[in-house]
Amino acid sequence: MPAPEGGTTKERKGKKPHKNKPTSKKYAKYSNGKREGKICPRCGAGIFLAIHKDRMHCGKCKYTEFVKQVK
Ligand SMILES: [Zn+2]
Repeated sequence: MPAPEGGTTKERKGKKPHKNKPTSKKYAKYSNGKREGKICPRCGAGIFLAIHKDRMHCGKCKYTEFVKQVK
C-alpha cells in the first residue's frame, strides 16, 4: 500500500502530553558507544556475556565463563 504524498494525516485528538520517561538502566551499561563486559567468544562481536557474581554467561549460546575470584 503506497504511502500518501506529503504524509499529512489528520492529527488525532486527545493526544497525551509527552512525559519524560526515566532512562532505561539498560543504557547505563554503555559508555561512549562501548559496553562494559566481555564479548562472547562463540557468538562474536555484538553478543555480550551477562556478568554474574562468579561467572559470565552468554544468553544466546549458553556459553559460561567462570570468573576466578581473588580474595
Ligand atoms: Zn554466545
